[in-house]
Amino acid sequence: MLRIAIQTKGRLNEQSMELLHEIGIDVDAAKRKFLSQATNFPIEVLYLRDDDIPQVVANGTASLGIVGLNEVAERGCDVEVVKKLGFGGCRISLAIPKGERYDSVEYFCGKRIATSYPKILGEFLAGHGVKADMEVITGSVEIAPAAGIADAIFDIVSSGGTLVTNGLKEVERVFESEAVLIANRNLSMEDRALLDELLFRIESESVSRGKKYLLMNIPTASLDEAIKILPAMRSPTVMPLAVEGWCSLHSVVDAASLWDKVRQLKAIGAEGILVLTLDKIIP
Ligand code: ATP
Ligand code: MG
Repeated sequence: MLRIAIQTKGRLNEQSMELLHEIGIDVDAAKRKFLSQATNFPIEVLYLRDDDIPQVVANGTASLGIVGLNEVAERGCDVEVVKKLGFGGCRISLAIPKGERYDSVEYFCGKRIATSYPKILGEFLAGHGVKADMEVITGSVEIAPAAGIADAIFDIVSSGGTLVTNGLKEVERVFESEAVLIANRNLSMEDRALLDELLFRIESESVSRGKKYLLMNIPTASLDEAIKILPAMRSPTVMPLAVEGWCSLHSVVDAASLWDKVRQLKAIGAEGILVLTLDKIIP
């Protein structure tokens, strides 16, 4: 039985649960406890605070975890980062009061910096030969300068709105983060095989995302041109229609280029164009 640790509540919980659901793992959210077992895959979900996830995966209490890369780096736990998951994107940045002049990292020499990420900050400062004082606080870091606790902060930024609200400006982007799937370094053969199955499913999920299934009727005379417009996985599917001189063409396109393709296809005589939502593409 594979055990995966995810955040109990907070920013990553919903999308972690959604990811599990998308890859066909059903966990009854209503009956959610500290530990709950999936009904259709040999996996159980362990709900934890995100701070604890890297450590339980490193020590094998859970085989896998979903957590921000920032937490993995800050805890300094030895785990395998198996895959970036494309959600929970943010960065950890240095920010100072907006009226201050800023030229380089030297600015921070002798300054007091409030943060919940002393390890990542310490490594960054050491790398630049800057000696500063760290004030380690666990919450509301952004109010530290106004409260007189610190001169600057090192904290998570996503839109930057919180910084603006607190009269701060971002001056150094130090660490880029997103949610990642992590694994214990010594997985059993059985767990490794289950992980491979999960990765296969996650991969097909990301291949399918943002794709549409397109079908239309096209004059046979325009077929070659239509095929050039529609590069499919191998090549588009073509089927003859009962009416002479027409065929039905099926293909998969990126949602981003959909309207452009539709315009080009209409221009060469395509009719009855259907755009369907794609559930999965199994590579
Ligand atoms: P817990 O109670 O589990 O310890 P937390 O309060 O430490 O939760 P959250 O605020 O839920 O953590 O954030 C979890 C993760 O979400 C962060 O570690 C980070 O990787 C990611 N994240 C993405 N955007 C943001 C953001 N704007 N602010 C904070 N975290 C963000
Ligand atoms: Mg936390």
